[in-house]
Amino acid sequence: MSAGDRSDLSRGPRCPLPIADHPTVLLAHGGGGRLSRMLLDRVFLEAFRNPILETLHDGALLDLGDARVVVSTDSFVIRPLFFPGGDIGSLAVHGTVNDVAMCGAKPVGLCAGFILEEGLPMETLWQIACSMQEAAREVGASIVTGDTKVVDRGKGDGVFINTTGLGVLLPGADVSPLRARAGDVVLVNGSLGLHGVAVMSIREGLEFETALESDSAPLCDLVRCILERAGNGIHVLRDPTRGGVASALNEIAAQARVGIRLDERGLPIREEVRGACEILGLDPLYVANEGKCLAIVARERADEVLETLHAHPLGDEAAIIGEVVDEHPGRVVLRTRIGGTRFVDMLSGDPLPRIC
Ligand code: MG
Repeated sequence: MSAGDRSDLSRGPRCPLPIADHPTVLLAHGGGGRLSRMLLDRVFLEAFRNPILETLHDGALLDLGDARVVVSTDSFVIRPLFFPGGDIGSLAVHGTVNDVAMCGAKPVGLCAGFILEEGLPMETLWQIACSMQEAAREVGASIVTGDTKVVDRGKGDGVFINTTGLGVLLPGADVSPLRARAGDVVLVNGSLGLHGVAVMSIREGLEFETALESDSAPLCDLVRCILERAGNGIHVLRDPTRGGVASALNEIAAQARVGIRLDERGLPIREEVRGACEILGLDPLYVANEGKCLAIVARERADEVLETLHAHPLGDEAAIIGEVVDEHPGRVVLRTRIGGTRFVDMLSGDPLPRIC
């Protein structure tokens, strides 16, 4: 074998991303939309392919003999570190426990990895740690292990956090994006777009008559309540974070090969969010949420689920927003206020970088 052959082998398989289109990583590759999906499909799935990863759930369900556990991981690079309604610490806990909850599991333990930039004030780090502890305590999960690395001044942005959550499957839970089927009803537990708009408002220096706060919150108890009430009538759960409701529903439609039809009149969107979105040039359907849960449920259980959501402190603005249909498989359609219809595609680009 010649030296040339050896160097070819050492390079390994060729990167399958269309290099001509994207020779380098773009911010939009982290936006939760079309480019994130492309990165996942053509790099990570291509490299790591296995049946558990291929379910493309919010976390992985592992069968360990008698125990069924869920593991999920998420990284947080939000800017600024503190925002109305939360901070990177509470968000890092909520984001991960919510992904565990979206698999139908109760979080029991968390791991936290910190990448700190030299020069970060110790007081800032202490506030973030206390905020994480409070958020974890609220859901009865402890931060049981972790790691810290420090990078040179100017090579990070204060602090980045990775959190991994471990959970145990709740009794009766059988939640998977593949279970969406025609006839199902799509519900959400409250008003859309609050997290993204709150963070963007503070970044852009916008002020509104009513203070806009992030909806960042743990959804574990809410998920427990609806699973207790409707059991395996709950087909799919998904938190519409980056890329918003539009991207989350597009992912589910594509995976389950069903169509989803939304009714614009049913979408719970507050006037101040609509106003802020107009100023910022955003569509609320694409704006990130951090305390919202989409539930796709069997039609005959939809009223019970809605009633259970309304009775929960995080569900008083819950609404039925659409249905799963046989038509246009893989796509989401919005029936507009004036009676027309339009396709709602996945987020393209990233109008809200570093939102979580
Ligand atoms: Mg998620």
